[in-house]
Amino acid sequence: MFGPEHAEEQYRALENHKACEAGTKNIKGSELTKVFPYINNEGIETATFTDNKSEGWIDPFMFHSALKSKAIELGAEFIKGEVKSISEIKAKTIISAAGCWTKELLDDIPVVPQKHTVFRVKCPKHIPEMPLTGDLTTGVYWRPEGKEYLAGSPHSVFDATDLEPAWNDFEELVWPALAKRIPVFEELKLTGGWAGYYDCNKLDNNAVVGKHPKYENVYLASGFTGRGLMQAPGIGRALTELITTGSYQTIDISDFAVERVLDNKVRPEPYVL
Ligand SMILES: Cc1cc2nc3c(=O)[nH]c(=O)nc-3n(C[C@H](O)[C@H](O)[C@H](O)COP(=O)(O)OP(=O)(O)OC[C@H]3O[C@@H](n4cnc5c(N)ncnc54)[C@H](O)[C@@H]3O)c2cc1C
Repeated sequence: MFGPEHAEEQYRALENHKACEAGTKNIKGSELTKVFPYINNEGIETATFTDNKSEGWIDPFMFHSALKSKAIELGAEFIKGEVKSISEIKAKTIISAAGCWTKELLDDIPVVPQKHTVFRVKCPKHIPEMPLTGDLTTGVYWRPEGKEYLAGSPHSVFDATDLEPAWNDFEELVWPALAKRIPVFEELKLTGGWAGYYDCNKLDNNAVVGKHPKYENVYLASGFTGRGLMQAPGIGRALTELITTGSYQTIDISDFAVERVLDNKVRPEPYVL
């Protein structure tokens, strides 16, 4: 959901959705309650959604385990240990996928930890059909989780010293935003929360993927800035193509090239939730 200040940008993004056959639909804010009757549309200029069951959510641990199991079945070997320097690895090809710790290994890549808090809440009224929803007017996102809901704080912190959830954000930012947008959320109760680090690319909030030009054999897959789970399958495939054939074949992600970061050519991602 977008307010007037983001609407034009979203209309441009929709052209890209169309070209990619993303299956998205767009409606005016004034029409929102026809599709989502539980939403208060005040201040919403436009909204984008899918209703073809092409979107949803997955368990990240299970997704990771499934990919890892398949890789082992195909012959991959996993070795646990801390790498202190890229130069200590002797291999024909190295892919640095160190997440938010990337800058510790490659000093010229500005991917650093950015703390984000997620809250778990319950509401006497459960709306199971509610999709994952992002409200760009407040920066709060939420989705059902079993009989409860998860809701992300819009507030993030660099250089955090611990991963204690930012509990104050709930009453100060998240609950007011939720209650304003979904009136039944006025009755929310906080049931839990946690914090984690986004793998933030400080340059422009976009991924850094491809060959590092200063090395013979080092590739990067990093800087997903909170979207790495969604992007992982495509990134894996594209990077495999780049490494095995020398160029991208089915998915051209050269916009994410390492050179863009080294040359400070920003390609900003406007929506980081
Ligand atoms: C609260 C929260 C909510 C999120 N929500 C979503 C979401 O809804 N959708 C989505 O797509 N993404 C989401 N993300 C982001 C997603 O989790 C990350 O983008 C993704 O995990 C990045 O994957 P990665 O493999 O690049 O890095 P990571 O998963 O961080 O893996 C990096 C690995 O490298 C290892 N490592 C680092 N340095 C070294 C070293 N020197 N030696 C050895 N090993 C090292 C680490 O131990 C780790 O195992 C969320 C993140 C958080 C914190």
